[in-house]
Amino acid sequence: MKREKLQNINWDKLTFSITPARSMYIAHCELNGKWEEGKLIPYGDISLSPAAGVLNYGQGIFEGMKAYRSAKDRIVLFRPEKNAIRASTSAERVCIPKVPKEMFIDAIVKVVKDNIDYVPPRGKGSLYIRPVIWGTGPVLGVAPAPSYTFLIYVSPVGPYFKSGVKCLNLRITNQFHRAAPKGTGGHKVIGNYAASLFPQKLAKKTGFDEAIYLNASNEKFIEEVGSANLFAIKDKVLMTPSLDGSILPGVTRDSALMIARELLHMEVREKSIPIKDFLKADEVFCSGTAVVVTPVGKITTHNQSTKINNNKMGPITQKIREILLGIQREERDDPFDWIYPLT
Ligand SMILES: *Cc1c(COP(=O)(O)O)cnc(C)c1O
Repeated sequence: MKREKLQNINWDKLTFSITPARSMYIAHCELNGKWEEGKLIPYGDISLSPAAGVLNYGQGIFEGMKAYRSAKDRIVLFRPEKNAIRASTSAERVCIPKVPKEMFIDAIVKVVKDNIDYVPPRGKGSLYIRPVIWGTGPVLGVAPAPSYTFLIYVSPVGPYFKSGVKCLNLRITNQFHRAAPKGTGGHKVIGNYAASLFPQKLAKKTGFDEAIYLNASNEKFIEEVGSANLFAIKDKVLMTPSLDGSILPGVTRDSALMIARELLHMEVREKSIPIKDFLKADEVFCSGTAVVVTPVGKITTHNQSTKINNNKMGPITQKIREILLGIQREERDDPFDWIYPLT
């Protein structure tokens, strides 16, 4: 592997923000055409038509994944084929030509390998990978863009919590919905995230870490956080909202369910979770690539606050977190073949 020597970056100071890397991957496609072979170009600004579909009508999707150094002293990805498949289904929902799974993974491998010296040392964080697929050709009327760009950029990022895991303090919102039934909530479509900025800002301004969204049709059931899935544990049963179209199918969500079912031999239920049951849970946690598995310690609805497990990480949450991190870091066996080594 070339470029063994690490970049001169202050690895201890990394946060979840952009640190420019060496290169990015780019490929193009015409509407109804095939993706041409992509290439690496220097990381930097790109030029777009002001009439680009992505800029005018939000015709774009994204993914989020990471590469990091494991205990076996190699650089690995975690379940990249899940991201490849999700990128495809997200793309289809907004009329973007699908990127074949092999091309998607091959592109990730190419860009990570070319930026290998930007992968932080073990324990200092990871190389965050951001694939995007955009309608970049010009359109005036509301219609699919005539051409598309698949781009992957990377950035070294620090660990999500600098000083150990902390319990999240969340607020259930009755003021906003994240996803409509039969809308785009089940896909990583960029427009969903613009709509979550204001609710997130309001939650933060009033002292909460994030907002919890309810189902849009009657606001009786919990759905998820702006960028993480939610779980509740009651009497040793693990529950999470089922994938009925308004829940984002998280890779971490799927991994937590498999760990609970197959390794902890727990009963696992994907079902609608009424607010009142949620507030009576023994443990609550959220899951996502960035937060991994993070406990929720306090939930506020209207003006009523409920502490979960006395605002501490519960034993089952801790177990699932430990096993997931253990597999990801290659500190324990990988019984599901989730690790995808690059070096
Ligand atoms: C990306 C995302 C998640 C988490 O998915 P992972 O694949 O686990 O990172 C959860 N909810 C929303 C809305 C998301 O966009």
